[in-house]
Amino acid sequence: MVNKILIIEDEKNISNSLKLILENEGFIVTIKELGTEGLACYSQHDLMILDLMLPDIDGIEVLKQIRKINLQYPILIVSAKTKEDDLVNGLSLGADDYITKPFSINELLMRIKRALQRQQLYEHKTNHTASQMKSYSFGKNTIDFVNLKASTEQGERDLTSQEVQLLLVLFKNEGKIISRTSLMEEIWGHSRDIESRTIDNFIVRFRKYFEPDPKNPKHILTKRGQGYLFLN
Ligand code: CA
Repeated sequence: MVNKILIIEDEKNISNSLKLILENEGFIVTIKELGTEGLACYSQHDLMILDLMLPDIDGIEVLKQIRKINLQYPILIVSAKTKEDDLVNGLSLGADDYITKPFSINELLMRIKRALQRQQLYEHKTNHTASQMKSYSFGKNTIDFVNLKASTEQGERDLTSQEVQLLLVLFKNEGKIISRTSLMEEIWGHSRDIESRTIDNFIVRFRKYFEPDPKNPKHILTKRGQGYLFLN
């Protein structure tokens, strides 16, 4: 199958050279210069390469809009912005990967391939999980894996695909200590150069969503120097 890639980038020299390289690798490539144009046509492509600084709406907004309706669509952010906040922001909003300019072509190609593989793996896992486990309850919370929603003491909330994947790993390992590295591998694949703090940020959010007293968690515990422990 030939993969179609959508590049959203307003710098023509970057987008044109990327297009040539990707076409050489056998991809079909479309370039759009505006975020809104990208939103209009992303679903006809298998993966989006997204610049953050765009003339109309910024890349984070494009990402947010897509994630509202499609949690799995592979999005690779390519940007000159290198501030850590943008990185954490992009990833927690559901970007699949993040690469900063200038980047090496090999690095980019590797990440594209990885994102496409993850997408296939994700579809496989989600189908598998949905058929196996439709929901899971702990404390006063119920996670709905089919609709990616959680019902908690504070009400209903939508979950991102990454949150759901991470929760699944915790649930499946109930009562066992699981290291940050294993958790990261489950979500991003082991060659991700992601900070282990990113996992900690997810855990902090989970405690806010699911623990009556987030400072004294009863379900998602930290084991110093070892990782996390989920107790139902
Ligand atoms: Ca730009």
